[in-house]
Amino acid sequence: MAASLKIISRPFLVQWLGLGVAVLVLFSILTVNLYRDYQRTSEREQERLSTQARVIAENIEFQLSTINLILQRLIRDTTDSDSVLTLKEGAQSSYFSALIDATPGIRTIGILDIQGTMVASSRKELIGQDLSWREYVKVVKNRPDANILYVSPPFRSLLSPYIMNITRMVPGPDGELAGMVTITFDPEYLSMLMTSVLYTPAMWDMLVHADGQVFLTEPARSNAIGTSLARPGSLFARHTDSGQQATVLTGTEPVMDSAMQMVAQRTINPPKLTIDRPLVIAVGRDNSDIFSLWRSDLLSRAIFFVLTSGLGCVLVAAYQCAYYRFENETASSAANLRATQDNFQLIVENTADMVVKMDASGCFIYVNPAFCELFDATPEQLLGTHYQKEVAAAERKKLNEYFSRLFSPPYAVSFTQQESTVLGIRHLQWTAKALVDQHGSITEIIAIGRDLTEHMNQMGALEDQAHHDFLTGLANRRYFMNLGTEEVQRARRYGSSLSLLMLDIDNFKHINDTHGHKVGDQVLQAFSHIVQQTLRNIDIIGRVGGEEFVVLMPETPLADAIDAAHRLKNAVAAGQVQLERDNSLQITVSIGATSMWPGSGLESMLEAADAALYQAKQTGRNKVCVSEQPVFAGDH
Ligand code: GH3
Ligand code: MG
Ligand code: MG
Repeated sequence: MAASLKIISRPFLVQWLGLGVAVLVLFSILTVNLYRDYQRTSEREQERLSTQARVIAENIEFQLSTINLILQRLIRDTTDSDSVLTLKEGAQSSYFSALIDATPGIRTIGILDIQGTMVASSRKELIGQDLSWREYVKVVKNRPDANILYVSPPFRSLLSPYIMNITRMVPGPDGELAGMVTITFDPEYLSMLMTSVLYTPAMWDMLVHADGQVFLTEPARSNAIGTSLARPGSLFARHTDSGQQATVLTGTEPVMDSAMQMVAQRTINPPKLTIDRPLVIAVGRDNSDIFSLWRSDLLSRAIFFVLTSGLGCVLVAAYQCAYYRFENETASSAANLRATQDNFQLIVENTADMVVKMDASGCFIYVNPAFCELFDATPEQLLGTHYQKEVAAAERKKLNEYFSRLFSPPYAVSFTQQESTVLGIRHLQWTAKALVDQHGSITEIIAIGRDLTEHMNQMGALEDQAHHDFLTGLANRRYFMNLGTEEVQRARRYGSSLSLLMLDIDNFKHINDTHGHKVGDQVLQAFSHIVQQTLRNIDIIGRVGGEEFVVLMPETPLADAIDAAHRLKNAVAAGQVQLERDNSLQITVSIGATSMWPGSGLESMLEAADAALYQAKQTGRNKVCVSEQPVFAGDH
């Protein structure tokens, strides 16, 4: 739904409207052009057809004038003293032949008497025939007029198909009807003339008598000859009704072709002659032929229009689809980005780590809640302030140094420092990274800080556990050896004295065996306590075996150490270890004492003290023995 709404959004609608207007403009231009072309084609054809009609008409008019002259000559030759009628048969025939040969387009010459009988003719077979029933004879007999050139309607002759006669009356001495002279049009000559003007096969022409009867057609249509076109609405009727000499009309002429035609018609009525009935020449051409080029032009333009409009639609649709897809992708990537940003924000806002962002000068531009909390400040108080404000004066120098390191590769520092926070002094580990733009300038600095205090405390505890004996809390053997080695080196360096006592609880095995292992442990703890209480803080006490202990006494000469050993032996012997049910236990300890001598080391001192201890055990226990002599030449 949202998608479809988006598709018809305003800019898209405007684009479609724009395309619609462009298509409409294109359509209008094409239509106007096509209409103009149509008009031009039509006008040109009208002109051409009119010209062809005029050519034929003028030719026939000339023909009629010539025939008229011949007829007038015949009238003279018939009526003068040496009438042609008195000529012998041979002379008469050659006279007619000369006239026919000299005048193209005439076929037969005849002279009729007042009744209508052929008295002389270029065709012998006609002589003597009564032709009074012929229309061309009847018309003259009915309305004899010496000035009129009678043009007969076409009729089927005795000798040939349709013919047309041009007739004049022969006047008597008082101008009365004395006979007739007549000439038959040669249809073949006219056919040639009419064919000569047809410039495409889709053209035709037709010679029609004024009363509507078809005399000749080209191409020949035998069924058309003699039919009448004088019916209402016909092209012929429309022409004659117009009263104009020349017309160009469009319509159908079923006699020639049932398709739509353009027809130029011209009335043949020579002005210098007085003819009773004029002729009409019609020259037609099939409309589909006239406009065939125009139609193919129309088709190509229509194809051009459809293709252009279609292409426009496709382009607009493709553009809109691509735009829509781009919009969608942008929206979804923006949503993804927002989601990612939200995620990051969520992480940064909720992490226990401190996250801050500074500008290149070191002023805060972002502080996360963990940072604010640790320094007991609101973001508003912190943002814009310099990091130095949050740092103790003593730490500033160190921090400035780290900060300046961010301005050169690798643009990152990592350091740990102690800072005063709401939770007290805390160990904070910071990792800072400068963001460098393409010009090499620092744009921002991101620093992430972690409070390592707990971790360090735990590490300390672990280290303590690793160094101390679990049961007594005294230094274990390894730690004692480390501390002892350092003390030996210090004593050597400063030439100070250093003494060592080795202690072993007497008959401890017996205690274990008598009271159990648990009591043994309690005895060990009580013993340790007595040793710690009796000796100085600087003395290093270590549990180096099950019930064997070592005491290293810095800056203590052997004599003082022996004193301390006796004090210790006595304190142990005097002490009571409290047991369950108000029982108590008394223990004693044997001690071997020695002191550092030149060339000695920790190992040799331990061996010397061990030897002294052995001696104490051997000589009765609960006593202190001293080893002043080195057992070995010395440590290496
Ligand atoms: P001496 O007077 O010769 O030193 O006799 P002693 O019985 O003390 O001899 P020894 O050193 O052989 O015996 C030490 C005993 O201490 C052996 C062992 O079972 C016991 N022991 C060692 N470590 C522990 C411990 O952590 N707890 C307890 N309860 N007993 C321990
Ligand atoms: Mg022992
Ligand atoms: Mg012992």
